[in-house]
Amino acid sequence: MNRRPIADHRAAVAAVLDALGARREAETLPVGAALGRVTARDVTAPVTLPPFANSAMDGFAVRVADLDGTASVQVAGRIFAGDVQRRTLPPGAAMAIMTGAPLPDGADAVIQVEHSVEQDGRVRFDRLPSAGEFVRSPGEDVSSGEPVVTENTVLAARHLGALAACGVGEVDVVRRPVVAVISTGSELVPPGTPLQPGQIYESNAVTLAALCRANGAVVGSAGCAGDEPGALATALDRAVDGADLVLTSGGISMGEREPVRQTLAGTGEFGPVAMQPGGPQGIAEWKGVPVCCFPGNPVSVLVSFEVLLRDSLRALSGLPPIPTERGRLTAPLTSVPGKTQFRRGYRTSGGVVAHGGPGSHLAVTAAAADVLIEIDAEVTELPAGAEVTLWPMS
Ligand code: AMP
Ligand code: MG
Repeated sequence: MNRRPIADHRAAVAAVLDALGARREAETLPVGAALGRVTARDVTAPVTLPPFANSAMDGFAVRVADLDGTASVQVAGRIFAGDVQRRTLPPGAAMAIMTGAPLPDGADAVIQVEHSVEQDGRVRFDRLPSAGEFVRSPGEDVSSGEPVVTENTVLAARHLGALAACGVGEVDVVRRPVVAVISTGSELVPPGTPLQPGQIYESNAVTLAALCRANGAVVGSAGCAGDEPGALATALDRAVDGADLVLTSGGISMGEREPVRQTLAGTGEFGPVAMQPGGPQGIAEWKGVPVCCFPGNPVSVLVSFEVLLRDSLRALSGLPPIPTERGRLTAPLTSVPGKTQFRRGYRTSGGVVAHGGPGSHLAVTAAAADVLIEIDAEVTELPAGAEVTLWPMS
């Protein structure tokens, strides 16, 4: 059988998604709603931080040159965080000051309250500070106009905090692609329904929707269309409304009821790819919207998404690809000739453990894995300790 190399199908999928990416648009979000999103442009600080000299400690603001050993000085006032009135330290005095309160004019250091004894309006210190001690100077953190986050930053909590600290309320981020998910299969019933003989629970829509969300996409709709081509056409019509991309599962192999292939054959390419699981693949379109067609077995869906689609989808919302890793097998492994096999496994301190057999229906077994173990098409036997490529699962 003439199977398409994985790299070729991956490139075909990437080309379709890259074309969507050419329309890359930005949207503006409140900073508090932008966790995990990717900046569409540099953001510079509209203010200088700290904006004014202030105290890093609770203590006393002093002018170092005015202090004379442990001799007491007058306490000329108290300054609290939030005090907006500008204050001046009289010569030879100290002012009580709290953390974050503005340093009075004329002061050049703060002595921690722990090193002071205050009594009858005067204060004595058991140590002398050096100039600048416990003073936070304006601009120490950032100056107005300097970058806070650069374009293509995946916004984590620390970035959002930095933007808020600068008084930035909104941020331009890359728009997320909208994906619609359609399962096929007349044997499938939704979780929560009693199973009749011959039926199984529908799981691919949940898996694919979650994979899309985990990789920067919005899921516009997700559901099951059965196996009747007319129903699939109706589902596709509905799915493409507002979606950038449609993902289907099932219905593209060699059986007599293959609604996805039968409905979309004229609009794209369907055929076997040299991988296991995930052999049958298709890339097509419906009313101008690309449709990426995966086979139906639950593990095939996982592997197809991670290997063929994930990184191109991530790129659409500005997310970086997830790099592969290298690891050593803890036990020997066999594979089939002519196809790249992706076995499920998990990483341990002693190496990667292959988990479960190659069967693509083993959905629960696959849940214990955190990586796909790639075994090259020409390799049929690997000894314990062999180095392999690992695809961390998203
Ligand atoms: P297909 O690719 O449609 O021939 O499906 C291959 C296998 O995967 C069959 O055993 C199906 O019952 C199963 N399957 C297909 N779609 C789903 C789904 N959405 N959820 C769970 N199993 C499925
Ligand atoms: Mg089917």
